[in-house]
Amino acid sequence: MSKTPETWDVAVIGGGNAALCAAMTAAEAGARVIILETAPKPYRGGNSRHTRNFRCMHHGPLGPLVDSYTEEEYLADLMKVTDGKTDVALARLAIRSSEECLPWMQDHGVRFQPSLSGTLSLARTNAFFLGGGKGLVNAYYRTADRLGVHVEYEAAVTHLEMDGDRIGHIDYTQDGQTRRIIPKSVVVASGGFQADTDWLARAWGPAAKNFLIRGTPYNRGIVLADLLDQGVEQVGDPKQCHAVAIDGRAPKYDGGIVTRLDCVPFSIVVNKNAERFYDEGEDVWPKRYAIWGRLVAAQPDQVGYVIIDAKSLELFMPSVFLPIKADTLEGLAGQMGLPPDRLRATVDDFNAACGDTSGFHPTELDGVSTTGITPPKTNWARPITEPPFYGYSLRTGVTFTYLGLKVDENAQCSVGNQPITNLWAAGETMAGSILGQGYLAGFGMTIGTVFGRIAGKEAAAHAN
Ligand SMILES: Cc1cc2nc3c(=O)[nH]c(=O)nc-3n(C[C@H](O)[C@H](O)[C@H](O)COP(=O)(O)OP(=O)(O)OC[C@H]3O[C@@H](n4cnc5c(N)ncnc54)[C@H](O)[C@@H]3O)c2cc1C
Repeated sequence: MSKTPETWDVAVIGGGNAALCAAMTAAEAGARVIILETAPKPYRGGNSRHTRNFRCMHHGPLGPLVDSYTEEEYLADLMKVTDGKTDVALARLAIRSSEECLPWMQDHGVRFQPSLSGTLSLARTNAFFLGGGKGLVNAYYRTADRLGVHVEYEAAVTHLEMDGDRIGHIDYTQDGQTRRIIPKSVVVASGGFQADTDWLARAWGPAAKNFLIRGTPYNRGIVLADLLDQGVEQVGDPKQCHAVAIDGRAPKYDGGIVTRLDCVPFSIVVNKNAERFYDEGEDVWPKRYAIWGRLVAAQPDQVGYVIIDAKSLELFMPSVFLPIKADTLEGLAGQMGLPPDRLRATVDDFNAACGDTSGFHPTELDGVSTTGITPPKTNWARPITEPPFYGYSLRTGVTFTYLGLKVDENAQCSVGNQPITNLWAAGETMAGSILGQGYLAGFGMTIGTVFGRIAGKEAAAHAN
């Protein structure tokens, strides 16, 4: 241990959205606050720096959001994607509080883009950050600094010592040394465990080693595991997570939003044996993109391959990687490492199953479907015939895991139903308290902002 432990009113573990919301709120309530962020300063901000938007309830036009988006509609959207596996009381709290969060975010430095137009109808439901999540995180760090919040970077928290019904001290490593602080209150906002592929593999089996992690490499669940080992109440299933199909050439960590592929509805998707395995046209992409991470995870070697032809290339948002291109299907198969004869046979079967395509409409469920093949393609089924042919490889990209700390409506953690008097949690690390499965775009930032502010307020009140 390097020096005498410092004492702080509120120690916040993590340096992303939830942590910053907690830290700013606690500082505004008069607390002396320290943030312990394991990342170096240029990589501060965890997954939050990859985000783009915040889902927000509102009774009338609010900031960049048009019309209204009621509590009941928001909740209904959430219940649909989670198949009812939602803690309704906590979800309602998050939804209801989101309305006052938007002006609060603006007051703390966040700027929003003008409302979106287009086919996704997000102008009413999701407010997009000007400068993305990186802009939001930088604005919050500036505000936190102005409020006197102290930040330690490359400060990797390793242990929170339970002392009866409270946390006694926090150990972290920095510059190769172990350091200790003694906080009156603690807020854990250190994300999920998805960057620890050994932990993922314990839940998913060895297949998880082939998963890519869309966000920060620093969310390894070290604090989560430490607290669960000491009996802190947990929630969620270790296999539940948000996972999408991303370009197989994406880096292992931190590829972010630009590696996502949106071309599946206009393609056929095959596995490494050049066999189709799921209906690529089941529904519009915003409602289906999140299931493809799991579908690819279930294939041999956890890879998939998207095949399209020239007439579909302009129909989707391009990803950061150019597609693989060839004048023939066999040439494409060769470049992608697929068996050429099998790919030719699969495409021929698919093309033969396509019918009348005159009703093709890329942004609606058009019912242009196959007949007589399994799996069917129930919308946007057009033969793949027009060279050049294009391909992308697909891998499972994990966004964040749901196993986490169970909290109550005050964001407080517990042991055996007894509250831990000075421990609160916010953001991804407690998102499983609300989300049992599934995900609603923009809800991660809602959970982090709402529960970060609650945790910061409670932590400061306890310290004072
Ligand atoms: C590519 C991508 C796009 C996304 N887009 C959106 C979006 O548009 N809208 C949305 O709502 N959600 C989005 N999400 C999900 C979103 O990132 C999260 O819900 C939200 O940002 C989580 O915030 P958080 O503060 O809980 O976690 P994070 O922002 O991940 O912060 C966790 C912090 O904890 C730190 N940490 C971890 N372990 C330790 C330790 N041992 N000691 C100290 N510090 C530690 C990390 O370095 C990090 O700073 C996206 C995620 C990804 C990956």
